[in-house]
Amino acid sequence: MKTSKVIDDDKADAGENEDVEEEDVKDDKEDIDKVVEETEDVPEGIKRKRLEAELKKKVRAPGGQVDFRKRRAMERFDIWEPRTRLGMMVRDKEVTNMREALATGLALREPEIVDVLLPDLEDEVLDVNMVQRMTDSGRRVRFAITAVVGNMDGYVGLGQAKGKEVGPTIRKAIDNAKMNIIGIKRGCGSWECGCGTPHSFPFKVNGKCGSIMAQFKPAPRGIELAVGDVAKHILKMAGISDAWGFTTGKTRTTVNYAKAVFHALGKTSSTRVSEVQEEKLNIVKGDVGK
Ligand SMILES: [Zn+2]
Repeated sequence: MKTSKVIDDDKADAGENEDVEEEDVKDDKEDIDKVVEETEDVPEGIKRKRLEAELKKKVRAPGGQVDFRKRRAMERFDIWEPRTRLGMMVRDKEVTNMREALATGLALREPEIVDVLLPDLEDEVLDVNMVQRMTDSGRRVRFAITAVVGNMDGYVGLGQAKGKEVGPTIRKAIDNAKMNIIGIKRGCGSWECGCGTPHSFPFKVNGKCGSIMAQFKPAPRGIELAVGDVAKHILKMAGISDAWGFTTGKTRTTVNYAKAVFHALGKTSSTRVSEVQEEKLNIVKGDVGK
C-alpha cells in the first residue's frame, strides 16, 4: 500500500526533528528580541510580527499527521471564496454538518466544504499507477492516482486524478474523493451478534466495477475486517469494523476493486429498508459520533 508522499515526508520530518526544533525555537525567540532591539528604522511591531510568522512556519505540531492536515485545511479555508450554492450555505453557517449538506441534494463541488464540515477526515492513497506513453517528442509519463477519504464514522469518498507530477496529483485525487463523499448506513446485521451497535453492515450488499464483484456481509463483533486488502482500507475509513467480504474477478486491478467496494458501500443507503427492519437492525445513517 502506497501512502501519500507529501504527508509522509512531513510526518517523518516532524518525528525526527522534534527535539532539535524545540531548541531552535528557543534560539529563535532570543533572536527576535535581539533583532527587534537592533533595528530602529523598521517599526518594531511589524518586524516582530514578520519574524513570529516565520517562526510559526518552523514549529510543527508534534506527531501530527492530522494536525498537518487540519492546518492545511484551515489555511485553505482562510482564502476560500465559495462559488457554489452549497459552499455559500456552509460559509454562512446555514449548513453546519455533513448530514445537512447531503440532505440539501445540492452538488458538492468544492472540497473546502468537506474540510469545514468534517475536520477529522483522513485520507489515504490506495494506488499510484504510472502510465508511460511514447509521443513524437519522446516519452511522456503521467500518474493515475486513486485516493480514499473518510472520517471513520459513516462518511467515505473515493477519488481519482491524473497528472504529470505525483504530489499535486495526489492532492487532486484527495480533493476529488472529498467531492464524492457519501453517507453510508451501518448497523448490526449479524444474527450471531445482535449487539445493536452500528459496527458492521446492516445487510448484505454487492458492488460491481469492470470484472470485479465485491460482496459484503454483516459479521459479529470481533471478526474484524475479513475482507481483501484494498477493501479493508476503504471500510476502515467508512467506520465499519466487522465484515465478511467475498470478491470475484481480477482484484489485482486496485482501481476497479476500490470502485466496486465503494459501489457496495453506496448500496447500504440506496437499498430500500422497511422501518421495522431499520429498527430491528439498529441502522444508522452517517455519523454516530464517537
Ligand atoms: Zn453486533
